[in-house]
Amino acid sequence: MSADRPNIIARAASLAWRPPDTRPPWKWAEEHYEVPVSNIPGKWRSENSPWVRKLMEEFADNSVRQITVMCSAQSSKTETGMILANWIVAEDPSPAMWIAASDEEGLKFANERLMPAFHMCQPVKRQIPDSRTLAKSMEIYFPTMLFEIVGSNSKAKLQSRSRRYLLCDEVRNWPKWALPMAKMRVRTWWNSRILILSTPGDEKDVLHNEWLAGSQEHWHVPCLNPAGCDYRGPLEWENVRAEHPQTRKCVKFRDVPGVVDEDGRWDFDALAPHIRYVCPRCGYMQRDEPQARWRIMSEGVWVSHNPKAPKELKSYTWNALLPFWVKWRDLVQKYVMAQVDLDHGNHDPMKTFVTESLGRPWEDRLRFAVSEGYIDDRVSDFTAPFNEVRRFLSIDVQGKGGRHFYWSVHAFAPGGAQRVLAWGKAWSVEELRSLAATYAVPAQNIVIDSGHWASEVYGYVMESGVLPDGNYAWKAMKGDKAPFYRLGELRLPYTWTFVDPFLGTNQANRVRPIRQLLFSKSSMLDRAEACMRGIGPSLELPNDGDMLHEYKMQLTAYERMERIKANGVVEVEWTQKRPDDHWGSCFRQALVAAMATGLMDVVNEPQQNAIKS
Ligand SMILES: [Zn+2]
Repeated sequence: MSADRPNIIARAASLAWRPPDTRPPWKWAEEHYEVPVSNIPGKWRSENSPWVRKLMEEFADNSVRQITVMCSAQSSKTETGMILANWIVAEDPSPAMWIAASDEEGLKFANERLMPAFHMCQPVKRQIPDSRTLAKSMEIYFPTMLFEIVGSNSKAKLQSRSRRYLLCDEVRNWPKWALPMAKMRVRTWWNSRILILSTPGDEKDVLHNEWLAGSQEHWHVPCLNPAGCDYRGPLEWENVRAEHPQTRKCVKFRDVPGVVDEDGRWDFDALAPHIRYVCPRCGYMQRDEPQARWRIMSEGVWVSHNPKAPKELKSYTWNALLPFWVKWRDLVQKYVMAQVDLDHGNHDPMKTFVTESLGRPWEDRLRFAVSEGYIDDRVSDFTAPFNEVRRFLSIDVQGKGGRHFYWSVHAFAPGGAQRVLAWGKAWSVEELRSLAATYAVPAQNIVIDSGHWASEVYGYVMESGVLPDGNYAWKAMKGDKAPFYRLGELRLPYTWTFVDPFLGTNQANRVRPIRQLLFSKSSMLDRAEACMRGIGPSLELPNDGDMLHEYKMQLTAYERMERIKANGVVEVEWTQKRPDDHWGSCFRQALVAAMATGLMDVVNEPQQNAIKS
């Protein structure tokens, strides 16, 4: 290494006499930067991605400490970081570190993208050391500075010497501890700069929190109505809709005639000519045309949604509607396909669409679920073989408009495969008993909700007779807020309790106590949803069921939301989106009964779930 020293010093000295280039990095790049791999090859031109100009200017501003970019994939994100890496070497040399998600990705990035870019940029190329020991793929000893590329999974390297510039790529794939650790490296520099470039991960993860702390800039675009409209607002996916060819009204994609066939298959070529970007103020519907996409991109401006943020913290977000080369129809197609998967219980494509196309963190997985189409897949003609071993009558008790009951009959096979045989409404206990006889459900397999009219329900239980084991035949059941119940090492979704039906009266302690099944409502909502979405034991609903539509609506009355709290704990919340859930309640009770009688595997409930319902 010592042999190279005089050379380095001589070159450093000659470079130091050059007058500084005071142009912003994007102007500098238009002269010096060539795009090595791109859909628009040749000299880089900022007019093809004008949205990166402002953050590039801030990158050269010593009063800015950190710029956090959370954006869609393939929209000039990494290219922007590479341009700034070249600019650092050429114009403001100081120790710099590019941090990739892993060492392997860092090596690949260095060999395939960054080194070719360094070699194509003349002011940088003439500084690349000839010696192979000084110009390795992961660290380059330029005469004036060290540029190194490391993986976020490499603790030792993140803890190494101080750096003025940190360029952080795809932070969403980093270990949680890596960004705070890397940020320590710049503390000794008064003029340090951190650039974070990433597609989003989950809501409130490390990346999202960094972004929230900054200026939160969104690209605001003008309305293109030629009749004139002074609206300017964020470029948002929610404004992408369709125009009905006959009524000229703004409609959902699926409401364009001829777009979806009877089997639910989509014709995107038929849909494409009707896709529009709709102005939220005047309702003007802009067609998906290159000139329009170009104007949206080039006439937009950045607007901070967090103007009170500290001046040194900047943050930007953009989505795939911004680069003019992305056709809206391609995004619509991705969205619709993801929606179809979501309706069948697969969330992954929608998560990919939200994070990688919309540039938004993933928050609640069911936000985009507009239909309960998934439950239609459970409707059956009951012709497949079914090895029934037990059936239950499950009863939900109601008071509004006079005492009445919602009921359903559930047949189970070993392992928990289930057929719902019938459901309905009854107006008296006698009617319930005769239903039990009709469907051949023995009295010990009748479960009834004791959550509201407890003493009345306990009365029915006592009237149901006593079994050889000394317990009453009917089982009282009550949903509860607990996430689970402990039984030794196990965390169960239900537990048995004993209640004295006459507690607090002079009859207390006189009669046989009632065995009551207490169950975690949120756990059972989880399990019920899994069954309805076809995950776990099979579920079949009769295709000729009475009020089948209403039954399905009640079964899917609850919506599940998942949030990741700041401390990393997953919080699950069930919210009731439709008022009637009575048959849903019967369904959950039947699942508890199947579980408590050994028909279904009971796996440990998750420990961490903080649950509200
Ligand atoms: Zn308008």
